[in-house]
Amino acid sequence: MQPLLERIEDAARPTAEDGLPAQYIPALARVDPKKFALAVVTKEGAEYAAGDADEPFSIQSISKLFTLALAMEWIGDSLWDRVKREPSGMRFNSIIQLETENGVPRNPFINAGAIVVTDALLHTRPSIAVGFRNQMRLLSGDESVRYDSEVHRSEIATGDMNRAAAFLLKAKGNLTEDPIEATNVYFQFCSLAMSARQLARAALFLVAPQPGDAALAKGTHALRLRAIMRTCGLYDQSGEFAFRVGLPAKSGVGGGIVAVNPAKGYAACAWSPPLDKFGNSIAATEALALLAAETGV
Ligand code: GLN
Repeated sequence: MQPLLERIEDAARPTAEDGLPAQYIPALARVDPKKFALAVVTKEGAEYAAGDADEPFSIQSISKLFTLALAMEWIGDSLWDRVKREPSGMRFNSIIQLETENGVPRNPFINAGAIVVTDALLHTRPSIAVGFRNQMRLLSGDESVRYDSEVHRSEIATGDMNRAAAFLLKAKGNLTEDPIEATNVYFQFCSLAMSARQLARAALFLVAPQPGDAALAKGTHALRLRAIMRTCGLYDQSGEFAFRVGLPAKSGVGGGIVAVNPAKGYAACAWSPPLDKFGNSIAATEALALLAAETGV
């Protein structure tokens, strides 16, 4: 596995030249576009890594995978009255369907859906920002995981599309908390900084039950979470990613993509900041495509 990851790094790295880091969040626009990481963690506990695999980056929308998992665990089926499980075919921050579909977001991985999930969590657990960070510490086995306050401030300063979604949700009766508060907490989840290795460890509950105290360790909802990852994990590129890579995955505009391969018993995370026009990392997609092809799906 280790030589394979190094070969993949060599092959995938150059593809990043075709894109740029997220430009609409100033703190992300400043990240070194040459960074690259690939980490693989097996259900037996072996870890393999190439590149900058221990350097924390902004997890952004990868947080949506874990907040959804917590909401499924802590809130249960009533969540599905407020958000559907259907690909949107639209950009991750689009609010067009929210208007025409009565304020019920298509899925929990587009921004409007993740804001509903945040609102539901915030309603039952007012200290969810600390709670979420603690769960990610437990899942990754690393107490050093923390929020990046510069990224958080940067998103608050530029997050008007997300506030628009939150106010529309409120107007349609699908938000219980204050829209500004809900979006600020959503931005905070997105601003968590984690390394590729930490994220691969954290995603292992989607492959096999894990020891430890994390709320998600048992992996009760893994099958259904993987279904939503397959169909909605890369927004309006989910079909293309399924065709090319074939693994359930979740991306973020920080340039990270988490993917899991239950058949082969591993979780992986690739990171490279430059994005394609859909907001997904070009070199991380390439790295995971090579990894899936070489290990089998
Ligand atoms: N925080 C980002 C936003 O709301 C997350 C988007 C993403 O990673 N796709 O725009």
